[in-house]
Amino acid sequence: MNTAFRIRDIAAERGTKQRGYVTVGETPLGPIQIPLAIIHGANAGPTLCITAGVHAAEYPAIDAVLRTVAGLDPAALCGTLVAVPVVNSPMFRARSAFVSPIDGLNLNRTFPGKANGTISEVIAHVLLNEVVARADFHIDCHGGDVPEILWPYSGYAIQGNPAVDERGEAMARVYSPRIVALYRDGTSLAATKGSLTSEAARRGVASILAESGSAGGLDPSDVQNHMHGISNVLRFFKMVPGDPVIREKRMLAVDQFVVDARRGGLLRLAIRIGDEIRKGQEIAEVCDVFGDVVEKVVSPADGIARIIWTHKVVNTGDPIVKCWIVEPAPPFAATDAFIRTAA
Ligand SMILES: [Zn+2]
Repeated sequence: MNTAFRIRDIAAERGTKQRGYVTVGETPLGPIQIPLAIIHGANAGPTLCITAGVHAAEYPAIDAVLRTVAGLDPAALCGTLVAVPVVNSPMFRARSAFVSPIDGLNLNRTFPGKANGTISEVIAHVLLNEVVARADFHIDCHGGDVPEILWPYSGYAIQGNPAVDERGEAMARVYSPRIVALYRDGTSLAATKGSLTSEAARRGVASILAESGSAGGLDPSDVQNHMHGISNVLRFFKMVPGDPVIREKRMLAVDQFVVDARRGGLLRLAIRIGDEIRKGQEIAEVCDVFGDVVEKVVSPADGIARIIWTHKVVNTGDPIVKCWIVEPAPPFAATDAFIRTAA
């Protein structure tokens, strides 16, 4: 009986860990490949896929996937982990933010992709159909890209398919340090068109967006957020022993807003990422090239600072901060038992 879990020529027998490359195209100098690891547990269980490097300058996500693959023992695993640490290898090599240096596309706006498209479209097609579709559940690990300082959160795009949606919400709730976003089309938190997670969920694979990381950095606390989240999901689906550990009550993102500059100049920020901001609070001042303060930027609403752009000089209309509007998450039986707050 053949019990191997196979993706192209990477085949892992039960109780083994295998790695290799999936070739998706080529440059004039050689193949364009997606690195992939399969940990096929010795014991039966579900299949979880974890991906990072769809945006390949979001390094804490990449590092967490690498560490997870290195640390998981196939002899102790129930089920199968399929891990892609760097989806977008052209971006990774070039240290590009957001878009591919080959075709200029943002891969996370390109799903489901095309078998005969440009390189980003081919990567999307192969990843979705040959890798993610093989799994029961999927986590796409991200963080703030090069110009973004980001506050961690997890998100899931509601599909209207109760079985998939319950798993997706449960994964987002156990992964995030605190804030959970549930995207719904037709609301102000609509699913991102062309994203990997929403296309995977449309195909019945419960798939979450997991964000921790900032500004092209590799902060150990961001890596730890991802490692903790991945571990919690593995525990939640009983692929490894133990219960998930949730350290803070869940907050649900219900809306978001961007505060931008109306005047140009040097930006003097008065807030930090994760700050709870009040309506009317000063966000920043803009100072012109003669040293005069030409604008005091205030917040139009209460919110939590979720993205601060790293630029220190602004033009009219440039974003300064994006904020979540949050409220305590409603009870959720599948995961609330794992909340272990100090208070
Ligand atoms: Zn990203």
